[in-house]
Amino acid sequence: MPLMTGQQYRDSLSKQKLDIRFMGRRISDVCGDPATRPHVNAAAMTYDMAHMPEFEDLVRAKSGLTGEVCNRFTHIHQSVDDLLREIRMLRACSQQTASCYQRCVGHDAINALYTVTYEMDQKLGTSYHGRLVDFVKFLQQTDRMADGGMTDPKGDRSLAPSKQADPDLYLRVLEQRKDGIVVRGAKAHQTGAVNSHEFIAMPTTAMGPDDKDYAVSFAVPTDAPGLLYIFGKQTNDERKLGCVDQGNVRFGIVGGEALVVFEDVFVPWERVFMCGEVAFSGPLVERFAEYHRARYGACKGGVADILVGAVVALSEMQGTAKAAHIREKITDMVHLTESLYACSVAAAAMGSPTPSGAYAVNSMMANVCKLNVTRSIYEIARLAQDIAGGFIATLPSEQDLDDPEVGPYIKKYFKGVADVPTEHRIRVARLIENMTGGTALVESMHGAGSPQAARIFIARRANLEQKKRQALRLAGVDGA
Ligand code: SF4
Ligand code: FE
Repeated sequence: MPLMTGQQYRDSLSKQKLDIRFMGRRISDVCGDPATRPHVNAAAMTYDMAHMPEFEDLVRAKSGLTGEVCNRFTHIHQSVDDLLREIRMLRACSQQTASCYQRCVGHDAINALYTVTYEMDQKLGTSYHGRLVDFVKFLQQTDRMADGGMTDPKGDRSLAPSKQADPDLYLRVLEQRKDGIVVRGAKAHQTGAVNSHEFIAMPTTAMGPDDKDYAVSFAVPTDAPGLLYIFGKQTNDERKLGCVDQGNVRFGIVGGEALVVFEDVFVPWERVFMCGEVAFSGPLVERFAEYHRARYGACKGGVADILVGAVVALSEMQGTAKAAHIREKITDMVHLTESLYACSVAAAAMGSPTPSGAYAVNSMMANVCKLNVTRSIYEIARLAQDIAGGFIATLPSEQDLDDPEVGPYIKKYFKGVADVPTEHRIRVARLIENMTGGTALVESMHGAGSPQAARIFIARRANLEQKKRQALRLAGVDGA
């Protein structure tokens, strides 16, 4: 059975040779380097959970392609039940890590490509779907982690890919050869890129006839020659080094993103899933976005569960747990969390089969789900900070806590209820600080696309004309 454990996943990463840069240096040990280790740990949970009896029915799936058991993160959705299990799996993964475990983007990429390459072949007589099926089987049989990359740098947003002053601002085909293609450009904000085995690239937007070179989708090993990773710096980064000040040192906060540069990277034809079919670049973007946006209520819902837990613990440590207004605010946090989750469940429950046979989520629910996340997570974070108090922003450092001269003052004056060590209160406060700080919130805003992108989808499917006619009919307006 090809299900790796977390340790086997780490071992497999250490065999890869990626060129990763961070703060003026090279990261050579992605599993051990403090900058990347937490994100490796979070992804490793998706492997370990496949071996934990309580999660097996969520994280294991029976492949519709091979009939074998595979990790659900490599599975093509065969039913509404699959879509629902995935949503439940995500909330469970988030509750284990309170972070981003990154594997969803590759999973959404293979599902989006599975459905769209099928439709493309039917319409245009191309032969991409078979290649994609072979690639998915390869992922299922090896349990390799694939990253899914869509976001091009985009340059001047008012101009199409082919009209940019610099032609590389959207990833493009530089050359077509007998044995494959050569690509140049970049993908920005790529979650999990430095600790994946494969990178799946997709176009970022709908394109016109002049943009043929930019309508390209393919997969390459992450250590293919010509690939360079410039790893992002996050707020609270130095928490990855800490102990008492750690926040969430084991899993970090959000996914560890990188700018991925393609400097003339060769891709063999058997890994090319789109090359010039501009009419299908928009549908591929939409399908990927729907899958990924549908996840966000479960992913962030599980993270919010941990934030609720941290706030409950802290209010007990501070002696405020019984105050009516604290209980009310915690109930509001739970209500918002469950509302986020409900929308992910709805997007899955209202899913339907595509012509390929694979199941897609409900588009309206998926986009509503994502738009809710861009608002409710801020409100949940606001309530958490309200309950926690100002000291999550003004706490002295761990070094001062350990200092023989000033440490005793910190322990004395930051004490909450008498029998709880001050250090416990500080640890929970740091976790809340970490989970409600800059990078975590911006990820909720822009991960899976901006709120404006979700709004555009919602407006397109709103059917306002029908709603208006129904209202006029009920109002007895003549002719309606
Ligand atoms: Fe998955 Fe995206 Fe959530 Fe990360 S942020 S765990 S990739 S849904
Ligand atoms: Fe994300």
